[in-house]
Amino acid sequence: VLDIRDLHKSYGDLEVLKGVSISAPKGHVVSLIGSSGSGKSTLLRCANLLEDSQQGEILFEGEPVKWRGRGPGRHPSDRHQVIRIRTNLSMVFQQFNLWAHMTILQNVMEAPVTVLGEPRQEVEARARALLDKVGIGDKCGAYPAQLSGGQQQRAAIARALAMEPRALLFDEPTSALDPELQQEVVKVIKVLAEEGRTMMLVTHDMRLAADVSDHVVFLHQGLIEEQGPPGQVFGAPASERLKQFLSATA
Ligand code: ATP
Ligand code: MG
Repeated sequence: VLDIRDLHKSYGDLEVLKGVSISAPKGHVVSLIGSSGSGKSTLLRCANLLEDSQQGEILFEGEPVKWRGRGPGRHPSDRHQVIRIRTNLSMVFQQFNLWAHMTILQNVMEAPVTVLGEPRQEVEARARALLDKVGIGDKCGAYPAQLSGGQQQRAAIARALAMEPRALLFDEPTSALDPELQQEVVKVIKVLAEEGRTMMLVTHDMRLAADVSDHVVFLHQGLIEEQGPPGQVFGAPASERLKQFLSATA
């Protein structure tokens, strides 16, 4: 579904991604691990058109994802393409990013109604079902500030699912949460993985990565240092840097 080829990305003189290729085939969960600053978030942001890149290619279901022009005035090559890509590649952030002035139900309904122009009634039924699915069906009328972090993150996942995306991008969905709240989000992610959803997951939670991934990629200073099935990456790492990383996070 998502195919990243030889991606290069710099901020000024800082080369963050130095030629990274990753693909997430349909129904697969690919996890990205690596130390802080290794470029994991940057990679997801490029895939979702939140960032431009200097070189390389990102293909979503065979269609190139790219911007036209450079610099602040740049604009997406096609507004409809951006909507299509973001609709089909929903992203969940570390900090939830819910709309504070909207109820949980409104948060989940917002994009399908305003961006996709779907009928309110249908969207509402779907939103309620999704909130039930993530275990906060009783919080429809609450505002984000009235929810725990784990509940807010589950609302954010429901919001991402409301777009009926072909793939989900998660950027450290559990990192902002206390350990006891992480588990409720982990449970939801495991259900999504079992449903065969295509996902790219950046996480510091090695157990989560080991449990849900079909493929694990270890990024180090903007390059893939090692990758493989979780059993191999976690069970028999070859690279010294990966071994070090794993022993530091254990
Ligand atoms: P973490 O695990 O801490 O989230 P990461 O692997 O997600 O780290 P990135 O956020 O992708 O790392 O950042 C990679 C590098 O790019 C870092 O050195 C960061 O300081 C730099 N960087 C990220 N965003 C910007 C930006 N908008 N402008 C300049 N530099 C940036
Ligand atoms: Mg990050």
